[in-house]
Amino acid sequence: MKNCLFCRIANKEIPSEVVYENDDILAFNDINPQSPVHVLIIPKTHISSLNQIDHTNSEAALKILEAIPLIAKKTGIFESGYRIVSNCGVDGMQSVDHLHFHVLGKRLMKWPPG
Ligand code: AMP
Ligand code: ZN
Repeated sequence: MKNCLFCRIANKEIPSEVVYENDDILAFNDINPQSPVHVLIIPKTHISSLNQIDHTNSEAALKILEAIPLIAKKTGIFESGYRIVSNCGVDGMQSVDHLHFHVLGKRLMKWPPG
């Protein structure tokens, strides 16, 4: 997707602080962190949101799940814990229409969220 911000980050047209990368996914620091550790994990192929996950692309979601413990170890939150968030659509307040998972850690996350 030509004008998609996260496609452009995945293609390295826009720089990011890469935390972890493989052939299928990219993890990078959020530009506006909401916790001391705030990493975004994206598939390198364009998927708009969780609503677009189906049997043709669910492998990408699996790759993201597999990367979570690796990223947790790398960022020092494996033992202390963390929260994974994927905002979807208007009520989810999704602001970038390319599937991404927030990895939030190194602070106590209140539940339920406000
Ligand atoms: P969401 O609101 O769930 O769609 O999350 C989008 C996230 O992308 C926000 O937390 C933003 O701070 C983050 N973001 C936007 N632009 C960039 C960028 N260029 N590099 C890193 N993170 C970004
Ligand atoms: Zn995209």
